[in-house]
Amino acid sequence: MHDPRECPGCEKRAKERMERYFTSLKAVLATQAGREVLDVILDRSGVHAPSLWEPSSRINYLTARRDFGQEIVNDIAHASFSAWVTMQQDRFNAAEIEVKAHEADEKQYQRRGK
Ligand SMILES: [Zn+2]
Repeated sequence: MHDPRECPGCEKRAKERMERYFTSLKAVLATQAGREVLDVILDRSGVHAPSLWEPSSRINYLTARRDFGQEIVNDIAHASFSAWVTMQQDRFNAAEIEVKAHEADEKQYQRRGK
């Protein structure tokens, strides 16, 4: 067995694999479905969470997940910065729609005398 880190052939193939990854990521980011899937994955990683505080060693697990999410964010921004901006705009728009829907719910409950 040889050390892939010291093998020019392995190094070349690893480099080509990353080039294909970024080309494919760019193609995925060009679609609404791709951006939505990545947004859910990033949400699960906790990358958008305001705080990961936990009074136990679980905080290490959550921090590692968020670090991985951050790695994906960096890849997305590298593959297509404009797609990353679009994803943030979509998050903002979805949050606004959510707030309005919640306000409408509140009004309905109030009209029913709660
Ligand atoms: Zn090799």
